[in-house]
Amino acid sequence: MQALGLPDLCRRCGAGPKGGCCAREMEDEADTLLLVANGLLGADIGAQRREDSECSFLGVRGCALPQKPIFCLNYLCAELCAALSAEDLATLRSETARCLEAYLTLEGVLAGQLAASRAYAGSVRRRRSSSGPPTVKW
Ligand code: SF4
Ligand code: SF4
Repeated sequence: MQALGLPDLCRRCGAGPKGGCCAREMEDEADTLLLVANGLLGADIGAQRREDSECSFLGVRGCALPQKPIFCLNYLCAELCAALSAEDLATLRSETARCLEAYLTLEGVLAGQLAASRAYAGSVRRRRSSSGPPTVKW
């Protein structure tokens, strides 16, 4: 994406009013699993927002999330499409598909781990409640 010149175009646009397409309501696209995945990738997922109208992940150097929400990855505005050749647009679309596929694999692993942890916590709770309160021997 850097090679296609996208970060510069989007950085300039994002520095404008409401952060370009990175407006405040867009931050809700980042769910818990996505934030966990970004934490594992070493991202600083604390609030970056400079203006209240911007997505809280938009910092001075652009989006702070190495793995972006699916909507953000898929969104290509008219200006961006006009700035790219048909070949670059095809490259961008195939890179986006590759990123999404990798993320969906990771999301599946994280969701599986979460379900296993919940099942384990539930079985511990059931065992504790079926064995009654602890007795003290004197
Ligand atoms: S995708 Fe378009 S609207 Fe969004 S930041 Fe980039 S240039 Fe601006
Ligand atoms: S998550 Fe990143 S790409 Fe998506 S709206 Fe926020 S700053 Fe922009």
